[in-house]
Amino acid sequence: MIKRTFDLFKQQLNSNLYKGDNVYCCVCESGFKKFKTFGWRGKKKPRCYNCGSFQRHRLIWKYLNDKFDILNRPIKVLHFAPEKKFFEILSKNEVIEYYPCDLYPDSFNYPNSHKILKGDITDIPFQSNYFDFILCNHVLEHIPDDKKAMSELFRVMKSGGFGIFQVPIDYSREVTYEDPSITNPKEREKEFGQYDHVRWYGKDYQERLEKVGFEVFKDDFVNTFSLKDQNRYGFDSAELIYHCKKTA
Ligand SMILES: [Zn+2]
Repeated sequence: MIKRTFDLFKQQLNSNLYKGDNVYCCVCESGFKKFKTFGWRGKKKPRCYNCGSFQRHRLIWKYLNDKFDILNRPIKVLHFAPEKKFFEILSKNEVIEYYPCDLYPDSFNYPNSHKILKGDITDIPFQSNYFDFILCNHVLEHIPDDKKAMSELFRVMKSGGFGIFQVPIDYSREVTYEDPSITNPKEREKEFGQYDHVRWYGKDYQERLEKVGFEVFKDDFVNTFSLKDQNRYGFDSAELIYHCKKTA
């Protein structure tokens, strides 16, 4: 508790200290002199001083708002493993019908996190053809039976709906690497990049989604921005958005 209070205090202090207009976080709508850098395996990545967003959060948020005006459409939204800032914004929105969901809802320490429903992605507790939009980022790489999870996402989506299911992809691999016999967290970290990941997706990620019925469009949305703006918004210029539609 003391540590949490201290962390919040530090975050607030840094957020004020670095206030400016060189860079801009579109998730919490705050400007800074620069982004905080976050080290990950020798690579420094820009993180928001205020809401803690990463590159991928900012890109998805910009995409959903600029292209789909997601906050102003009366749609049913399913959100698996809800990211904190997205949860805060979406759960307060009165236009959309919002369903945050996770297998372990008690593990979330968000204000109003009682709203998070308990649900297994391989057996989603909703009727078929129910949601207009599904957000499920950085989840599938944790799920042993990802094919079942993908087919469940497809089942509960309405025809004409779409989803964003971002995962870490190793583009040097043609084919996804997985080995269910690797269960030790240390070995998983070595083989799949994180202690609780069960695979490295490769270039065939799109094909795996298509096999359960999705129509997948790899949107290079990030490169519709100049390099200067990509830096200003703190985007990763190599990130493709997998836009998954249900047309059947
Ligand atoms: Zn932010």
